Amino acid sequence: MAVAQAVLSAYENALGQFDRAARYIKLEAGMYDILRACKRELTTHFPVRMDDGAIRVFTGYRIQHNLARGPAKGGIRYYPKVNLDEVRALAMWMTWKCAVVNIPFGGAKGGVACDAKSMSLAELERLTRRFTSEISLLLGPERDILAPDMYTNAQVMGWMMDTYSMNKGYSVPGVVTGKPLSIGGSRGRVDATGRGCFYIIMEAARVLDLDLLSSTVSVQGFGNAGISVASRMHELGSKVIAVSDSSGGVINQRGLNIRELIRHKTETGSVVGFPDTESCSPTDVLEIPCDVLIPAAMENQVTGDNAERVRAKLVAECANGPLTLEADDILHEKGVFLLPDILANAGGVVVSYFEWVQNLQELFWKEDHIHQQLREIMSGAFARVYEKAQLLDVDMRTAAMAVAISTVQEATMMRGIFP
Ligand code: GLU
Repeated sequence: MAVAQAVLSAYENALGQFDRAARYIKLEAGMYDILRACKRELTTHFPVRMDDGAIRVFTGYRIQHNLARGPAKGGIRYYPKVNLDEVRALAMWMTWKCAVVNIPFGGAKGGVACDAKSMSLAELERLTRRFTSEISLLLGPERDILAPDMYTNAQVMGWMMDTYSMNKGYSVPGVVTGKPLSIGGSRGRVDATGRGCFYIIMEAARVLDLDLLSSTVSVQGFGNAGISVASRMHELGSKVIAVSDSSGGVINQRGLNIRELIRHKTETGSVVGFPDTESCSPTDVLEIPCDVLIPAAMENQVTGDNAERVRAKLVAECANGPLTLEADDILHEKGVFLLPDILANAGGVVVSYFEWVQNLQELFWKEDHIHQQLREIMSGAFARVYEKAQLLDVDMRTAAMAVAISTVQEATMMRGIFP
């Protein structure tokens, strides 16, 4: 996907978001530097034997941003462009995300620079097991807990859990969330990010007086999160008029049948070529006139270059970091209501938290119970952020960041500085 040259890195963007919100909070001495820094950063270069017998060296990262509120939590992504600065930003966002929804975790993220799509299952397994071994000195259910992210899934989590457990000598399900159900995964985890985003959109629609049943929706990204949020909106009765993935996009002003579109993507590998649609580029769906725009792909998609052309009333960031600071300003000027990532996509880590609790208790919850608890947490978080936005007269991102930073500051102050 084309991204303009002048765009800030995800980390510069994350720091800029922090600085904007920090103006509204009384930060205690030293707190500015503590909260902006990533606590631990591990880079590893490790060999993997490929199917043709060749050895390739891959680079991976695990970064823990802040541990004041509990063990580190965050996903692992497999993507060719993964780099230190991107992982730093994603780790920092996890800290704020866990604080906004008030679950007892710090923030972390990891990734391996690789093209998972072009690797065989056996190669992916060897890469996953070696990477997990390399970072295992940081891991543990009470230290650092892994989860899926871009191009990793339940199977990859299963290998991670097994690798860690083999070295311990017994099963440790709580070191990874997003696992398959058969080895201690949670019901409702697969679609949790999209479901959480859907709950937040419903809360926003209520305060904006937007009727979702007669609303049009456009979704960028048709991976785990995009599929789930598009399905929920479609089931509710909204018209999902445009969807794209990394290969291209499809548009039908009468509304796309999302169930059929999922089938098409499973069969062909992309949404492209879905019958009765007009095709477009992956980023065109960001500019289509609609009520609700859901960027569910990746960072830096709505920038100073295209934000002016966004024609939605509501933007819900189902991806991490899809809007740059410049885009925030432009959308704010245009009167677009923004649901920031650390609130809108927190459903995934909330159900990860449920999974971790179930693993520690060895007691499993019913799906209804998961949905209901998730909804309660998401609605509560929306209410806190919305109230803060009204109080400070700021946009929802600044409000969410202010809530999060205050929460982490409070924890840091209560613990004190060691020694
Ligand atoms: N990767 C997801 C995120 O960015 C989930 C993280 C987790 O469940 O720990 O929020």
